[in-house]
Amino acid sequence: MTNKDLANVIFPNITKTVEDYEKEYPKRDLEEGAKVTRFAPSPTGFMHLGGLFQAIINYVIAKQSNGVFFLRNEDTDKTREIEGAVELIMHTLNDYNLTPDEYEFKGEIIGNYGPYIQSERKEIYHAFIKHLIEIDRAYPCFCSTEELAEMRENQETMKIRTGYHGRFARCSRLTPDEAIEKIKNGEKYVIRFRSNGNFDNKFEFDDLRQGKLFLNENDIDEVIMKSETMLPTYHFAHVVDDHLMHTTHVVRGEEWLPSAPKHIQMFAAFGFEAPKYIHTPLIMKKDGDSLRKISKRKDPEASMSYYDEMGYPKLAVIESLMTIINSNYEEWHTANPDKKFTDFEFSANKMSTSGALYDLMKLDDISKNIISKMTKEEVYEESYKWANVHSESLKELIEKDSEYYKNILNIEREQEKPRKDIAKYSDIENLIWYMYDDIFYNKEKEYEWKNITDKEEIRNILDTYIGKYIELNDKEAWFNNIKLMCDELGYASNMKEYKKNPENFKGNVADVSTVLRVALTSKSMTPDLFEIMNLFGIDRIKERYNKINEEF
Ligand code: GLU
Repeated sequence: MTNKDLANVIFPNITKTVEDYEKEYPKRDLEEGAKVTRFAPSPTGFMHLGGLFQAIINYVIAKQSNGVFFLRNEDTDKTREIEGAVELIMHTLNDYNLTPDEYEFKGEIIGNYGPYIQSERKEIYHAFIKHLIEIDRAYPCFCSTEELAEMRENQETMKIRTGYHGRFARCSRLTPDEAIEKIKNGEKYVIRFRSNGNFDNKFEFDDLRQGKLFLNENDIDEVIMKSETMLPTYHFAHVVDDHLMHTTHVVRGEEWLPSAPKHIQMFAAFGFEAPKYIHTPLIMKKDGDSLRKISKRKDPEASMSYYDEMGYPKLAVIESLMTIINSNYEEWHTANPDKKFTDFEFSANKMSTSGALYDLMKLDDISKNIISKMTKEEVYEESYKWANVHSESLKELIEKDSEYYKNILNIEREQEKPRKDIAKYSDIENLIWYMYDDIFYNKEKEYEWKNITDKEEIRNILDTYIGKYIELNDKEAWFNNIKLMCDELGYASNMKEYKKNPENFKGNVADVSTVLRVALTSKSMTPDLFEIMNLFGIDRIKERYNKINEEF
């Protein structure tokens, strides 16, 4: 019996050959230099920050070169699959405007290189494995889990590198006859790749992020097909799929770098050219004084649902990741504020060689900037959409009077230096509640008085203001009146003079304005007081100032 016979015993119904598939998946018709990338998550859980990080890189590389970005669902580990994970991945990509050019979703296949779900590609993998068996580069392995565990233990006691290699690769020595007999006897088996590497040899591996690396050749006969499901392992599916789908650049987590020698060997066994690789760094965070990997268990911000719940604009999250994808992104973005992140020329070798440090404060800064540049209508729409899902109370507030809400949002907006206090939609309520009388009067609050705290003096300022100086028509006149009031009450209306002779005054115009601000809002820091007062109108201002005695 020959290897061909063995291949036929294992895959009696597989008639298509590797050549057939080569024809079915011809070279893509793309312009010179166009890159083909893919996001290839396993549907084993929620969408994580690291996933989006990789999706962005893939997207940018493909878009910049007029290439193709596709989504492949790597669902060969059926035991770890989680319901709804695929939907979540697809929705997240759509929400972030990273929609793939090719994908398969809810029975619909978009693109000519599918199926894009690995479990639907079983026959293809089998044809490729059949070929490897025929050319003696793969074989069935009958070792049981117990036997493998024992082997491992022995290797550990003997201080030998663990794994199915060299003399430990017992089943690699079975003849086709012996293997066929075992199969006919109903013995369970997996299929292993027959490695031809020597672990003591190094070969040059070019990782586009890390540059030239010298890796040990692989000598482990890796499992390429599992026994029960007859589905391939990641290693094998990667080789077959990225070859047939003509992926030019594989962007994947650096935890896969140690497996690269296996993959290179498998591509070579078929005579295929391997793609280029970019192994991405881990996403790190500061924890006290030290840095550590962002953890799905410990850090809520590791899950994409966090950003939804907080109400960050999607673009802010993308840009915060761009700044850790390439360290020169920020500088570029400052110089080209109107360009899109996809216009930025990504370079793999400008990625951090250690971890990528993610910082939520940075995200807040980026987000504040983005929201500050939005129109009141845009902030209204986005925050309302967010509130509909995540905040009943903000939703109510908006629905009560959407024009008033928009006007509040418009304070210090649509001007050269707009307000930058909103980082996420969940911040809004906390920033504007005092603009609503029913909340304001019913809330336990602390008045943040500053330099002037004497109740009688505060009363005096407020009475003088509403009695004589209140004026809301234009900002200059409004401020002038406050200054006039300062002169009348013995406060410096001119800061320079005050600084020269502070002893001549009770305080200055800033102290008086603070009283007006705090008495109106309870806060010492608010956006522009004139704009706030204008939204209130004289009657509501008077009411707040009159009612303040109850708070004393
Ligand atoms: N399914 C693999 C993972 O989720 C993909 C790795 C790759 O992109 O090749 O880690």
